[in-house]
This record gives sequence, C-alpha cells and structure tokens, in this order.
Amino acid sequence: METSQILVTVAGVALIAGNLWFFFGKKTTIKPVAKGALYACPMHPWITSDDPTADCSICGMKLVRSDKAGK
Ligand SMILES: [Zn+2]
Repeated sequence: METSQILVTVAGVALIAGNLWFFFGKKTTIKPVAKGALYACPMHPWITSDDPTADCSICGMKLVRSDKAGK
C-alpha cells in the first residue's frame, strides 16, 4: 500500500466528517429544547404537550409537567 494513497483517503474521510459535524452541530445549537419534558392536564392526562405554557384544550387548565418515564 502506498503512503500517499492512505493520506488522501484519511484526508477525504476527515473532510466529510468535518462537514457532517459542522452541519449537525449547528442544527443542535439552534434548538436547545430539553428532551423528555412532557406536560399534561391533571384532569385529562391524555392531553399532553411539550410546551410548558400550553393549556388543556378541554378544561383550559394549565398543563403540569409529568415525568412518568423517569419512574
Ligand atoms: Zn383538562
């Protein structure tokens, strides 16, 4: 195997990886929303939203955070 060929291959892979990291890294910094936070109505648990300021569409109560997945 020739050393120049290996260098070109490594440089190409590094370039592609750098581009992927650049684009995906930028996307993740735009949306810093915490994953797993879900809010539900105490009276109507099936009414859920990931928006903490959302209200229940049935009774209008403010949605409270539910951490069912954590327990
Ligand atoms: Zn409700």
